[in-house]
Amino acid sequence: MIKAIRRMQERKLRGFVKLLYHHHPYYRRLMKKLKLTPRDIRKVDDLRKLPLTTKMELRENPKAFVLQPQRKRLKKTLSLKQKLSALLNMEKFKEKMKWEYAPVTFFASSGRTGMPTPAFMTRYDLELLKVNTMAAIKRITKGIKRPVGQNMFPFAPHLAFWHVTLGLLDYQDMFWIAFGAGRTELQVDVMEKFKVNVIAGMPTFVKRISDVMVEKEKRSYVRRVVLGGESAPKGLVKAIKDNFSENGPEPQVIQGYGLTESKMAILECREGSGYHIFPHIHIWELVDKNTFEPVEEDGLIVFSHIDMRGTVFLRYLTGDFLKGRIVEERCPYCGSTVPRIEGKIKRIVDMEKNLKSTKVKGTLIDLDVFDEILSEIEDIEQYQVIIKKENKYDPYSRDVVEIYVGPKKHVINIDELVRTVKEKVKSYTEITPRIKIKSPSQIFEEVMGPLKGVRVIDKREKTKG
Ligand SMILES: [Zn+2]
Repeated sequence: MIKAIRRMQERKLRGFVKLLYHHHPYYRRLMKKLKLTPRDIRKVDDLRKLPLTTKMELRENPKAFVLQPQRKRLKKTLSLKQKLSALLNMEKFKEKMKWEYAPVTFFASSGRTGMPTPAFMTRYDLELLKVNTMAAIKRITKGIKRPVGQNMFPFAPHLAFWHVTLGLLDYQDMFWIAFGAGRTELQVDVMEKFKVNVIAGMPTFVKRISDVMVEKEKRSYVRRVVLGGESAPKGLVKAIKDNFSENGPEPQVIQGYGLTESKMAILECREGSGYHIFPHIHIWELVDKNTFEPVEEDGLIVFSHIDMRGTVFLRYLTGDFLKGRIVEERCPYCGSTVPRIEGKIKRIVDMEKNLKSTKVKGTLIDLDVFDEILSEIEDIEQYQVIIKKENKYDPYSRDVVEIYVGPKKHVINIDELVRTVKEKVKSYTEITPRIKIKSPSQIFEEVMGPLKGVRVIDKREKTKG
């Protein structure tokens, strides 16, 4: 990595750890318990003195992860400038502290596995989100003379929707329209009329938009598709590109990766470039999926905040597995030296024991496998996978996998399609799924319903660990 980036990160890390030590309930307790002081965490490698934080800890007490400045220790973390401003004008100083620290909203994930966990945002966070998204929009729309954007992320306390919305509010060089994820037919009409050339949305929703565009024989002007909020399997990306290019240019599909907890998503600069991190916001690392020891390649993704307020983390275990590595060489696409997360990101879940506590063992089922298989069967227009207990009142009953299949209009031999799905799933996962045929639009409604684009759902009860 370019030394300047690393130096900047370590400078921010030191300040941030100090802030957490004094004002973050969870990490203060943790550091005290481990007899660590801010002086012990000065370099990126020093972060390893801290254990990983998992979703379990967060779920148990989300409030303990919110930065809450303590009056009695405030002096220890204020800069000279802040102290001066407090002396000069107390009211103004208080306002500024409120702006920085008081949560004003929360974002939550769509809850693949039960209750969503909130990440609280302060106005400081929203401002950071805005400024960084603006820079990303500029990068993405490079080469488009008159960008016209359409935001199709679901209108909800959902990071992706607010990411795009905040980034656009003060953005000068783009005309934009925001619909949320709904009113498919109207969105498609508007896209043609306003010659929309940049769209952003959840993979499932964008796929549907592209299907309708083909059905209605609309002309497409789309040149950039930004996907986020859910992973996009190869087959789905291909279908989206094919659909849009049926009657228009072939768009570039740019993917984002983010979690509610990371509070900011990271993005590719070009299709397939790898995700450029925001080096001044997060430090990313990989750990072995069994030992949790740091690894260079192929590991679980872990991040630490070095900026942001509200809900923040050090060494948060995402539960996503990267088959690849964090690349520090100059990007061949955009020339930037900002590190990239390169490779394939997979969500993993433990089929037998669930993702209970921090251990990930038992039969590892890669949820993306379902997506990969089903998105590439051309006769399927929509699908949904539900993992559940055979008897929902009995947590010890068998896990079953149900797949709802929505065939394309032209498919006549449904039995054969069912057989194909069964065989393919069985051969990759050793699980025989139950297949149910449903209309594609009904499946689409379910997928985009309360769960907002989640195609693979784990409905088994979580046991507290
Ligand atoms: Zn790049």
